[in-house]
Amino acid sequence: MRIGILNGDDIGHEIVPETVKVLQAAAQVAGVRIDWEPIPIGRAAYDTLGTTMPGDTLQRLGALDGWILGPIGHMAYPKVPEAPNPHPILRKHFDLFANIRPVKSYPTLPSVHQDVDLVIVRENNEGFQPDRNVVAGSGEFRPTHDVTISVRVITRAGSSKVARAAFELARARRGHLTVVHKDTVFKLGCGMFVEECRKLAAEFPDVRLDEAIVDTFAMRLVMTPQRYDVVVTTNMFGDILTDEAAGLVGGLGMAPGLCAGPSHAMAQATHGSAPDISGRNIANPYAMIMSGKMLLDWLGRRRGDAAAIAAAARIERAVERVIAERRALTPDLGGTGTTSGMGDAIAQAVREA
Ligand code: ATP
Repeated sequence: MRIGILNGDDIGHEIVPETVKVLQAAAQVAGVRIDWEPIPIGRAAYDTLGTTMPGDTLQRLGALDGWILGPIGHMAYPKVPEAPNPHPILRKHFDLFANIRPVKSYPTLPSVHQDVDLVIVRENNEGFQPDRNVVAGSGEFRPTHDVTISVRVITRAGSSKVARAAFELARARRGHLTVVHKDTVFKLGCGMFVEECRKLAAEFPDVRLDEAIVDTFAMRLVMTPQRYDVVVTTNMFGDILTDEAAGLVGGLGMAPGLCAGPSHAMAQATHGSAPDISGRNIANPYAMIMSGKMLLDWLGRRRGDAAAIAAAARIERAVERVIAERRALTPDLGGTGTTSGMGDAIAQAVREA
């Protein structure tokens, strides 16, 4: 397997190496060969190569099976054309239309709720995000100094693709899918999204499809998150709800994610580059490591590679064990450990599992 390593910015330089360490340990034990390819991106690439997204990045990534992308701190980039935010470009170019974000509680971690085990599948390339819902220009513009217009893009094809990914995931889990929308107000936009979900329901008679208005869902998520299995929603709602859900189970350090498309997938945690804690070896590597695990599992299923699927399962068991024993946990989880110490403990548990 050829997997790219893109550190990203700030804590990315600390948590991505731990992820590679853990994936490599699992691959070795399971007999999976991974060829790693480091690719410069973000601020470090700008400082050395003059651009946050070197010209050959897309071509190099295209030749890989998938890659790990550390968090991107684009808000701190110089405001010049050579310093674009790379991740919307990657999501769009490789049609990474499904952003799959699991949310899971652990009995030994401080958590608002216990027994939470849900996955939010967020449409990734359309919706309200103005830097990614158009191929040129921006989905937001200001015709006069006092008027701003933000455009939301919803397509049948985009809605149907992400809905199918969510149905398939629900089928492989507990068979329950909730589509979150606001078709009471966005009658056309959310209306189309929900229509496409309903159409697919006939193909998945084993999946129970529920519908929820986004504001009601946000409230229920806080009160009874245990009632949900897989949730599918549009880009902006998904962006907000995944952070809210992460807050229920220990914070952003506990929120992994995978951006998946027809030919490639990108491991990308939900959280940002956390400049406030960068360089201190205290960032929680869980989200990045579990994102890497999701990539390995996705690649294994796609290629029919049982060893890769087993390697991913081994990582999950190792993480569960380290958390259950509260070994080497970082401060956000109430521990006194370090990023590298937690990575080491998980890699060790992988070898022992
Ligand atoms: P973005 O908009 O790019 O997603 P953000 O504004 O949501 O970024 P983050 O960089 O994710 O901000 O940080 C939000 C808070 O969560 C910060 O206090 C940060 O330290 C904390 N945080 C984020 N990731 C981690 C992590 N892996 N471990 C510990 N704390 C984290």
